[in-house]
Amino acid sequence: MKLTMLLEMAADGFGDRTVIGRLDGGLSAAELKAMAESGAAAIRDAEADSVVYLAVNGPAFPVAMFAAAFAGVPIVPVNYRLGDEQLSSLLANHPRAYGIADEAQLPLLERAGISAVTPEQWLEVSRGVAAPIEVESDSPAVIIYTSGTTSAPKGVLLHHDNLVSYVLGSVEFASADPDDAALMSVPPYHIAAVANVITNLFAGRRSIVLEQFAPHQWLDTARKEGVTNALVVPTMLARIVESDAPKELPRLQTLAYGGAPMPSAVIEKALAMWPEIGFVNAYGLTETSSTVAVLGPEDHRVALASDDPAVRARLSSVGKIVPSIELEIRGHDDQPVGPGITGRICVRGDQVSAEYAGIGKAVDERGFFDTRDNGYVDEEGYLFIAGRLDDTIIRGAENIAPAEIEEVLLRHEAVLDVAVVGVPDEEWGQRIEAAAVIRPGVDVSAEDLRAFVRSALRGSKTPDRIVYWDELPRTVTGKLVRRTVLTKLLEDQATV
Ligand code: ATP
Repeated sequence: MKLTMLLEMAADGFGDRTVIGRLDGGLSAAELKAMAESGAAAIRDAEADSVVYLAVNGPAFPVAMFAAAFAGVPIVPVNYRLGDEQLSSLLANHPRAYGIADEAQLPLLERAGISAVTPEQWLEVSRGVAAPIEVESDSPAVIIYTSGTTSAPKGVLLHHDNLVSYVLGSVEFASADPDDAALMSVPPYHIAAVANVITNLFAGRRSIVLEQFAPHQWLDTARKEGVTNALVVPTMLARIVESDAPKELPRLQTLAYGGAPMPSAVIEKALAMWPEIGFVNAYGLTETSSTVAVLGPEDHRVALASDDPAVRARLSSVGKIVPSIELEIRGHDDQPVGPGITGRICVRGDQVSAEYAGIGKAVDERGFFDTRDNGYVDEEGYLFIAGRLDDTIIRGAENIAPAEIEEVLLRHEAVLDVAVVGVPDEEWGQRIEAAAVIRPGVDVSAEDLRAFVRSALRGSKTPDRIVYWDELPRTVTGKLVRRTVLTKLLEDQATV
């Protein structure tokens, strides 16, 4: 099935309903479809083989995404925070693209030989004449570059079929109330933004976007627009709960989070702050068209209220694998392992593309995709992420997940943020070092923090050195850029 069919169903089912933007001046489902069809004609006229979107989020993005789908070419949302050099090499992969870019980026596209319009001009273009086009459902609909936190950025091809099966498996058509509204603060080049545009539209829920995230503005918009559903990454939630802005969110029903590990200290604080809100932890990857496992509101409530440590621990799980996905945890010998044993998380299902531009499909002979995340399931089927394989520190002969040490340090009241990495060491192969951001005004020594880790874990997992920094290098979706942490740690060898 094609992505365009979802929009056609929305336009037929609730054509008058505002689905994008504010109630006054937003776009209805029927308008979105008409604009996407006209935009498709412009893309076809330009004989483009893709649409590069190098702009902040806004109504132009969903129009462009569906226009590309109608035109039968993929949309390539690009990270506008990359440096010029990285952007240029990425744009060189798409010389025949139709460009939509913020004013400041236009010269860069011009240098890459891509003709481009601004988002405002694009919305004008999309009010032109439409021409129907046939699209194959196994053609790529979206190309998203991975952030490159663990390897060089790779263009993940998401086909119409992948995205549509994700949408059909996660939401019911027209299930939202007409006055429901969703707030998006993730940029368009992240899979969560793409998935959210489509799921909200299919459910009949109005989407509002924040061009750039700031906690005050997020809280303010959520309150004023009567937002019922929102999605944030863990660093955003941490900043929202720490913010001094008013926290009343009377209409918010569901607050989903994901994209990176959620520190339990942050989610516990959020649950205590908003007992009425249903929290959802969503785990997934670009290669899997977003969510493959979910910890729902009821699980959050039960875990928070429980005295049983095993049940309480579920707050730090990513919940259960969704019904349309098959999960296998594989050990060192590549064979499936049972509950409680940590191995690599491998998944299979229609929403899994696992195909990279210029590389091909990265699945095994049985169609399973190796996420390179370590994890285990408990007896009840709850999935726990034990860090990314590529981040694993090997100290002596011991494999250590930095995420486990970070999680402990974040439970210390003085620690606002922390990164743990392996640093080359002559004796151990790698030693453990940490960079921490300390809550202003709190006096805590690195030795106190080391003792705190030692009492929670054990000696071999205690950082050999902890330094204090003002902030940590994180991507906009909250992922630590560990390579940068390591470089900085090597530069700054003075122990605090
Ligand atoms: P790269 O592979 O280059 O690092 P990336 O980080 O952009 O690229 P994404 O597909 O955006 O790749 O991120 C997927 C990863 O994010 C998962 O493999 C997992 O490690 C992490 N992740 C996503 N959701 C969650 C979650 N709810 N809890 C913990 N980790 C998560």
